[in-house]
Formats: sequence, structure tokens, C-alpha cells
Amino acid sequence: MTRVAFVTGGAGGIGQAICKRLADANFRVASSYIAAERETALKWQEASKGAGYDYVLVEGDVSDFESSAAIVREVEQQLGPIEVLVNCAGITRDGTFRKMTEDQWKAVISVNLNGVFNVTRQVINGMIDRGYGRIVNISSMNGQKGQFGQSNYSASKAGIHGFTMSLAQEVASKGITVNSVSPGYIGTSMVMAIAEEVRNKIVAQIPVGRMGTPEEVGAVVAFLAGEDAGYITGANIAMNGGQHMEF
Ligand code: NAD
Repeated sequence: MTRVAFVTGGAGGIGQAICKRLADANFRVASSYIAAERETALKWQEASKGAGYDYVLVEGDVSDFESSAAIVREVEQQLGPIEVLVNCAGITRDGTFRKMTEDQWKAVISVNLNGVFNVTRQVINGMIDRGYGRIVNISSMNGQKGQFGQSNYSASKAGIHGFTMSLAQEVASKGITVNSVSPGYIGTSMVMAIAEEVRNKIVAQIPVGRMGTPEEVGAVVAFLAGEDAGYITGANIAMNGGQHMEF
């Protein structure tokens, strides 16, 4: 059966690899992007088509409830009911707390945490009615361990874990799993653009001795999105090369 998967922020560095991996696993894949990134997103859609990947792409803002509703309506009109939701859209607005502005705080919480509510809320009742669903939330290692200059980001990503565990309990009996994935440093083009000297210092702190790849995140998400992962729910899959370990 070809299931429908929707990835928010799918045109981003990690999102692209998630979309590709889900398409390789035979999902029909839709993705969304924010207006400011239209050009990049459309280029990616076009290039993907050339490579044999035909993604439905919808513009909208996950930090806005109505916009999230419109995104989901559009995806479902084009592909049918969403059975797999990957909440991947995310932003950073770093700064030490004593200098952090209310705008920086609110922007990050609105996209990273409220966005997860706004989109998940649109799909959950359909999943319950159909008795099947997979929700995967992309959190971060920094939501587990905290990070200097990222009190807003770490709070939003830690919030995702509480959300994941609570929703997982509410919908477990309905055939729906809810999990989070917490990547450490992933070598997206943005991260690889950091000066080599700085990157080397980061890598020196990672026991595996390298950054992760977007493809590795895609593989974990695709596993959680599959039917074989039906007994995993309310879990967090940490993938950080051993940089942060906890039960
Ligand atoms: P990215 O900036 O390349 O992609 C982010 C995507 O989110 C973009 O497609 C963008 O259009 C979308 N987006 C941003 N604001 C939005 C909004 N208001 N509404 C809708 N879409 C919006 O980032 P990335 O590195 O691919 O990160 C993807 C996810 O992985 C994020 O949640 C990020 O926090 C998380 N993450 C990344 C890393 C890393 O090392 N890159 C590590 C841990 C976690």
C-alpha cells in the first residue's frame, strides 16, 4: 500500500533527505516550506523531479494555526489522508539569555514548538478515525543537554519531548505512534559552511569522530514511519555520534 507522508520543512537540509528516504520507501511524499524560502524550495522540487522524485510542495507558516490548517488541506486534497507526519520545520535565533529579546524567544517557540501543535492538531483526528498513524518530531540533542546561547531553542526542543510522550499515551490504542528523533551535529550545507577550524573543534567532541549525515536522519525517520516500528512509541531516538548519552 502506498501511504501518504507529509514532512514540514522538507526543503531544508535534513528535510530533503527525509523526503527522499520516505519516497524510496514507497511513500507518496508532500512537503511544506516558508515563503521566505520559496526559491530554494522550488529549485529543490524541480531538481528532485529530474531525479525521479515527484514531491507535492505547499507554502505556509507552521507557526500560524490557520496557515497550518490550509497546508494540511492542500496536501490532503492532492494526495489523500496524511498517514505519516514528520514535524521537521525548525529555526534558531541564538543569543545568550541576558541579551535575548522577546522576539528571538517567541520566534523560536512559535515555529519549533507551537508549529508541532499547529500541524499535528490538523491530522490527529483523521489518524484516530482511520486507526493508523505515525508521527515523528525532529527535536535536537540540545533539547536534551541544553546549549550555551540556545535557551530558546533548547526549551522548544525539550518541549517536543513532553509533547511526544503525552500524545503517544493518548493515541497508542488507536494504532498511532508518536516519537521524536534528536540529532546532534548533522553536516547539512549550513553546518558545513562553518569555518573548517571551528568544525574541527566540534568534531573533536564527538566520540564517533565525525558529524552525522542528513541521510542517516532520513533512515531513522523512515524506520519510525514504517509499519515495523509499531511497538516504538513515546520514545526519543538520540543520534549524536555519542556526544550525549542518557537513558
Ligand atoms: P533548515 O533551515 O535547512 O530547514 C528548516 C526548514 O524549516 C526549511 O525548509 C524552512 O522552510 C522550514 N521552516 C522554517 N520556518 C518555518 C515556518 N514558520 N513554517 C514552515 N516552515 C518553516 O534546517 P535543518 O538543518 O534541515 O533542520 C531541520 C530540523 O532538524 C529542524 O527542526 C532543526 O532544529 C533540527 N535539527 C538540525 C540539526 C542540524 O545539525 N542541522 C541538529 C539537530 C536538530
